[in-house]
Amino acid sequence: MATATQAFEPSVRVSATQLLINGKWVNSASGKTFPTLNPATGEVITQVSEADAVDVDRAVIAARAAFETGAWRRKMTASQRGAMLNRLADLIEKNADELAQLESLDNGKPYHVARAADLPLTIACYRYYAGWADKIQGKTIPVNGNYFCYTKHEPVGVVGQIIPWNFPLLMQAWKLGPALATGCTVVMKPAEQTPLTALRVGELIMEAGFPDGVVNILPGYGPTAGASIARHMDVDKVAFTGSTEVGHLIMRAAADTNLKRVTLELGGKSPNIVFADADMDAAIEGAHFALFFNQGQCCCAGSRLFVEEKCYDEFVERSAARAKKRTVGNPFDKNTEQGPQVDQDQFDKVMGYIEKGKSENAKLMAGGGRVGDKGYFIEPTVFADVTDNMTIAQEEIFGPVMSILKFKSVDEVAARANKSAYGLAAAVWTKDISKAHAIADSVRAGTVWVNCYDVFDAGAPFGGFKQSGIGRELGEYGLANYTEIKTVTVKL
Ligand code: ADP
Repeated sequence: MATATQAFEPSVRVSATQLLINGKWVNSASGKTFPTLNPATGEVITQVSEADAVDVDRAVIAARAAFETGAWRRKMTASQRGAMLNRLADLIEKNADELAQLESLDNGKPYHVARAADLPLTIACYRYYAGWADKIQGKTIPVNGNYFCYTKHEPVGVVGQIIPWNFPLLMQAWKLGPALATGCTVVMKPAEQTPLTALRVGELIMEAGFPDGVVNILPGYGPTAGASIARHMDVDKVAFTGSTEVGHLIMRAAADTNLKRVTLELGGKSPNIVFADADMDAAIEGAHFALFFNQGQCCCAGSRLFVEEKCYDEFVERSAARAKKRTVGNPFDKNTEQGPQVDQDQFDKVMGYIEKGKSENAKLMAGGGRVGDKGYFIEPTVFADVTDNMTIAQEEIFGPVMSILKFKSVDEVAARANKSAYGLAAAVWTKDISKAHAIADSVRAGTVWVNCYDVFDAGAPFGGFKQSGIGRELGEYGLANYTEIKTVTVKL
């Protein structure tokens, strides 16, 4: 682990800290606030209004009114909605430096990473869905008899969106893009750890000129504000990204109330499979990126790293050396590769898994401790000789902890890769096209990367098999969850 230098002082100023309801910034009905922390120091950045059930009610009423009056879906044409989304993308681009600083401050991810990855992906996502707004169309159907039959893809209605803290701006874009393109109205709850950029985007939404009530943003906690959205009788659909555990709660809440539509993007324990015939330099760097990117806080992290026996020793040694070289420190330093974990809870959870790995006799090859005595920094950690039944090979760690497992044959690794309750992503590294296809074909996961990892594009759908989720986000497929199909049959 090298020491970082080349730091700069963030110049960002925090503006929006209230709730955005019906086009106005308001305090929560209770007057309560909660602190949001800088994970690099553990210090409070600012207090933010804390929404609960009463505020959710007010926001749903506003979103319902904006939906029913047709201010968004009828009075504006589909192409005007697209233009509005493009205007929002332009404003985000104009303020990209500020937003990247705010994201870094609130989340802990390195500023230069937020600026080079999160911001461009966020902007591209809004632009992508802006392009779809006037291309959402049904079919004409040749039914029997003298009838004219056609379908319309109508917006599902008021949508509740609950997002996580690992990619706050990007997850907001993944949710708002398709919802707004299809003409839905939104009540969104950002994660309590990272409300600041979502609120700043709320200001830009107002600046772009979105009608009041189309987007409402309510920072608050999961069991209060989040659960109120999931249980609300007048929310037509809930879209959630977060833990599988909370995914179960969301689905139950929908079942117990109004059968609102549910889409879930949940956890993962994604197999990343390296064959001995792979380009070793690319595979080692790719596996490092697949696991450690974003402090290991990715639902699709390559957290079960299967390496073929023939190259196993070399791979383990070089991966450990690479992890030891990873620069950890100040997120506002150009040389920093890894910032802090997002909060004390996540820090404790990850440290707990590291202890578990040691006690279950995985071989610690790098890291294993905290960095410094301030903030939530963890050493890039590598365990070798991990076996399928160890806790660190089964449970999602969501931190900078690499687990390397050994395999011998294609069939064996294909079977072991699928021995998981999750099915979010997978990757394979090989120069042999048949092995690549064999894995791509057999693995039960929503995304498979071949000789690459974490390649995202607004046009490429993403989501989970099995307990990694329900439905897909991004791409044309991502629109399906935001529309209802209406069949119209006309007697001729
Ligand atoms: P993590 O454990 O990674 O923080 P969570 O699933 O707890 O992930 O959080 C993801 C999002 O879900 C956050 O916005 C959080 O506030 C929200 N959330 C947590 N618990 C609930 C709940 N019971 N109902 C609705 N939303 C929740």
